[in-house]
Amino acid sequence: MKLKRATIVRSILTVIAAGLSLLATRGGATPDQPGAKKWYKGNLHTHTVHSDGDSTPNEVASWYKDHRYHFLVLSDHNYLTETAGLNTVFASPEKFLLIQGEEVTTSSGGKPVHVNAYHLGGLVDPVQADSVAATIQANVNAIRAARALPSLNHPNFGWAVTSKDLMQVSNLNLLEVYNGHPMVNNRGGGGAESLDEMWDALLTGGKRIHGIAVDDAHHFKTIDKTLSNPGRGWIMVRAARLADADIRAAIEAGDFYASSGITLNDVRTDGGALRIEIKPDGAARYSTYFIGEGGKALKRVDGINPEYRFQGGEKYVRAKIQASTGDDAWVQPVFGGSR
Ligand SMILES: [Zn+2]
Ligand SMILES: [Zn+2]
Repeated sequence: MKLKRATIVRSILTVIAAGLSLLATRGGATPDQPGAKKWYKGNLHTHTVHSDGDSTPNEVASWYKDHRYHFLVLSDHNYLTETAGLNTVFASPEKFLLIQGEEVTTSSGGKPVHVNAYHLGGLVDPVQADSVAATIQANVNAIRAARALPSLNHPNFGWAVTSKDLMQVSNLNLLEVYNGHPMVNNRGGGGAESLDEMWDALLTGGKRIHGIAVDDAHHFKTIDKTLSNPGRGWIMVRAARLADADIRAAIEAGDFYASSGITLNDVRTDGGALRIEIKPDGAARYSTYFIGEGGKALKRVDGINPEYRFQGGEKYVRAKIQASTGDDAWVQPVFGGSR
């Protein structure tokens, strides 16, 4: 009898919780914050026929708009695919926006060095220098000089870039921690760092760097795991409105998370804790790892409401969420002294 009552109470609570979670996700903002910022989904790395993609800018923009992305960067290799004309066709308020970018593409000693430029006004020519680190720095400098945001792409593509290289680079605050291209070795292996390990090495070394997930999509005509198809990695940016300046400011501030399939209803740092609300998806189960200095897992929390209470003295705390489906999400580091 007792058990039965407990079951009924639990069912009622589940229904209430589902209702609350529905309320919380409506419009992407929590109901108790009038005029709150919203989440915007975007892919920062895509190719068209202007470099080695298989589809026109129109076809690529259509794919992302049809799949309910809010913003998209067409990042062709050493080519600026201009967005003004495309935006007259595709942009619509609060629904879709193309942001201008380029994949500044070069190499050093036979190793590929690809640095994306976001919110770019004019073409940036790639620069070569005498080491991988110096080449990255030269291109970061060129992108900064063009008043755009630099991001280091797929470090393990061609096993080109290590955390040791990146420790020598300044003015770089974005790193791909997930890239959907099948040839980029996100997980490392054979003695090479995974992108998560690389990120932790940089954070531990004192770098203020945010992690992004991207498609690096080239192939829209055929879907196959051996191809670089769209829809594999994205960021969710929290901003007041869908506008170039707002998205840029939020990316620069690290007010976003990266995902390969997990949606979060909320991420917040308050009351001395980092709190995350995961949006449940079918039967999927979730584990969240709160990670600190040296890549050490400080705490693992199962379920959809993981929280980490700061102990004081942590250099940084970030979170990686793993779903039973194989999908991941990456929550940006909270740095000691900034909370
Ligand atoms: Zn590339
Ligand atoms: Zn690319």
